[in-house]
Amino acid sequence: MLDRSLFRTELTQLLGGRVRFDLTLARLTTMKIGGPVGALIFAEHVEECHQVVTFLEKNRTPWRLIGRGSNVLAPDEGFDGALLALGDGFKTIEKSTDLSADKVLVRAGAGLSLTRVADWCAARGLAGLEFAAGIPGCVGAAVLKNAGAWGSEMGAVVASVTVMNGREERTLPRSCLHFSYRSLWMAPALPAPLIVAAVEFELRRSSTVAIREQMAYYHQLRREKQPLNQPSAGSFFKNPPGLFAAELIESSGLKGLRVGDAQVSTRHANFFVNRGRATARQMIALMREVQQKVEKQHGVMLEPEVEVW
Ligand SMILES: Cc1cc2nc3c(=O)[nH]c(=O)nc-3n(C[C@H](O)[C@H](O)[C@H](O)COP(=O)(O)OP(=O)(O)OC[C@H]3O[C@@H](n4cnc5c(N)ncnc54)[C@H](O)[C@@H]3O)c2cc1C
Repeated sequence: MLDRSLFRTELTQLLGGRVRFDLTLARLTTMKIGGPVGALIFAEHVEECHQVVTFLEKNRTPWRLIGRGSNVLAPDEGFDGALLALGDGFKTIEKSTDLSADKVLVRAGAGLSLTRVADWCAARGLAGLEFAAGIPGCVGAAVLKNAGAWGSEMGAVVASVTVMNGREERTLPRSCLHFSYRSLWMAPALPAPLIVAAVEFELRRSSTVAIREQMAYYHQLRREKQPLNQPSAGSFFKNPPGLFAAELIESSGLKGLRVGDAQVSTRHANFFVNRGRATARQMIALMREVQQKVEKQHGVMLEPEVEVW
């Protein structure tokens, strides 16, 4: 990496106000954990992403993407590199095509929040994304993770994905997208690093009232079942095939288990919450303890859904 002050100067020259320094991962993630970051960069359009990636690679600066930071457990040591976030240029949404009397394609920038997309579609009577209301991520990560809830998932409504890697950009149709539980495999994909730039959704015409009612019901379920008033990254573990991680954890007697300020939520056993000053080390110790005890009790090794950076 370049000398630190030269790095700051050159990045500021390249991006003006769209680069920020002196932030911590705790401020950028919903778990509110993690040390300092070298820089947070907002790229406004595809060309700028390419420019930034070229600059960072030329200067051998490690970098990674960040959306809303709602699926990440970040290290206490921080990240001595750059985080790339998609700025306003990646937050557009429009109806792109009327496929038939009742089917519509909507193109959304990868930087938009899922909640905003679900609201926009609801207001226009476009159904299919009701399940996404309340998932606090952005479109790009949600499609890569095949985010889902209440028996639906992104894969059911995605028609195409536009990806870029700092050199080229490509739109992959549905036939190239292979969704499975919390993952997406694309073939043929671009060589890494892969950045999702936009997603096209295939939605059904319906009534705004019916869509909003369904979304309100899902919001209510979340409020009842999930510890939304405490920092977390949602479900910590994936559900093993045919089982529910929360049930395995609860029946192992681990609800409420604590390591320092990291705790298995007393409301939802698959949410790990930060009670105030939890560290990544404490969260990881809690994760290991839960994995060991569940394996001992049920013979199942739980696999994290949260990304441990
Ligand atoms: C209270 C709560 C409830 C939740 N409920 C659900 C739920 O019901 N269902 C569910 O599936 N998840 C749920 N989650 C988890 C989380 O919201 C999803 O995984 C979401 O898709 C993550 O989006 P993000 O923008 O926050 O991604 P981040 O956490 O910022 O990033 C996740 C990964 O995606 C990468 N990434 C980010 N943007 C891009 C991009 N444009 N291109 C390529 N890679 C990118 C990052 O580098 C990282 O590897 C919940 C989380 C919380 C806190």
